[in-house]
Amino acid sequence: MLKVYNTLTREKEELQPIKPGIVTMYSCGPTVYNYAHIGNLRTYVFMDMLRRAIKYNGLKIKGVMNVTDVGHLLSDGDEGEDKMEKAAKEQKKTPREIADRYTEIFFRDLELLNIGKPEIIAKATDHIDDMIKYVTDLLDKGYAYETSDGIYFDISAFPEYGKLSRLNLEDQIAGARVEVNAEKRNPADFALWKKAEKNHIMQWQSPWGMGYPGWHIECSAMSRKYLGVTFDIHTGGVDHIPVHHENEIAQSEAREGCKTVNVWMHGEFMLVDGGKMSKSLGNTYTIAQLEERGYSPLAFRYFCLNAHYRKKLNFTFEGMDAAQTAYTRLLETLYKHKVSKEDLPSEKLESYKAQFCAAVNDDLNLPLALGVLWTMAKETPCKNVYRAALDFDRVLGLSLDKAHAPEKSEEPVPQNVIELANKRLAARKAKDWAQSDKLRDEIAALGYKIADSKDGYTVEKI
Ligand code: AMP
Ligand code: ZN
Repeated sequence: MLKVYNTLTREKEELQPIKPGIVTMYSCGPTVYNYAHIGNLRTYVFMDMLRRAIKYNGLKIKGVMNVTDVGHLLSDGDEGEDKMEKAAKEQKKTPREIADRYTEIFFRDLELLNIGKPEIIAKATDHIDDMIKYVTDLLDKGYAYETSDGIYFDISAFPEYGKLSRLNLEDQIAGARVEVNAEKRNPADFALWKKAEKNHIMQWQSPWGMGYPGWHIECSAMSRKYLGVTFDIHTGGVDHIPVHHENEIAQSEAREGCKTVNVWMHGEFMLVDGGKMSKSLGNTYTIAQLEERGYSPLAFRYFCLNAHYRKKLNFTFEGMDAAQTAYTRLLETLYKHKVSKEDLPSEKLESYKAQFCAAVNDDLNLPLALGVLWTMAKETPCKNVYRAALDFDRVLGLSLDKAHAPEKSEEPVPQNVIELANKRLAARKAKDWAQSDKLRDEIAALGYKIADSKDGYTVEKI
């Protein structure tokens, strides 16, 4: 039985789907105004692990993920420009062109990382009517009010506000940036609908004139539409706990008059070099950038599986090198099992399977599950070990069926040589031939020969 940690209760709970045999799940998706960075992608690797663990337990899944192509302002509150409009202006494109471009890249990244697409992908701009209806209901029920610039949720009408983050209202307000909007009844009231200025590119007709939806209403309206009043699991990154998900709970429970999500699950953040990822620091890497440096996307997935999803994960290139090496070793080790004609005694194999399953079902302890796989892989080569590894791969998603013979040398290429080779690859990409030649000489001085290949390079011992 799969146990998962519920942010709402702060406890691990057995997952009991409302409708036996099928889990309903909503995942907050991307705002498609830019490339997804490796931090964003960690959150979707987490979503995928969860989806895979559910299926591994013999359950079906109905998953919904939104694509935010309108209504996400620069702050998660109600301030600043719409992220889509800002990108459109900067890149001299229409918001639709921006959204389509980054949506396509996002789904390509998911595919490269073996992240399964949820069954339903819902674009915000296709659901404006559902959102307007939702806001109308909240007004009718007395949970919302109109001001000169929009419709706001009245949090004083929802006394349980804050129950997910367990922050009291004073803390919430102190944490929020002070916004001057004298018409709001409470500083923490949030916009359900914004009335648009004439020059706002994206706007729709509504009972309150032309305007556009708030970001939070999107998830409430779309989860209700596809998953019903109450569904099993809602996922997102930890940054969503205090504002976005708190607001979703307020809107949904106010409208439906009951609990709407049974289990809230959140993936912890990825850090880079021990600090925050940010554009200004130039450390928001994309999958394409990792590929340019010679890393395979699945080595990044392997890197993510090494840490529990509720623990912060610090990204460094040393860590990525280690993940790439370990992942290659795993494929090579499993190959020996693949070509073996022997079989491991079944009790031993069953014991590994039981340990693997127990780790997965203990709130997705995939670092431990990966450890079980490694211990099993170190057995003398056996065909049934390979088959068990393929079974484990239904959860790990590491394409272990690509197990291959070791590439020439059995000895791993030393770390410093890999670093130089990666630097050389970057130099070649930048067409800095002098630097590339210099690095080749340095690699040769260490006793290795580097050759260019379609996928980057190959290094072998001279
Ligand atoms: P956004 O497109 O900004 O709405 O973010 C998409 C998802 O990525 C959300 O679920 C965020 O919680 C998550 N996210 C943003 N930054 C990070 C990070 N550094 N590490 C992990 N997840 C993140
Ligand atoms: Zn959401």
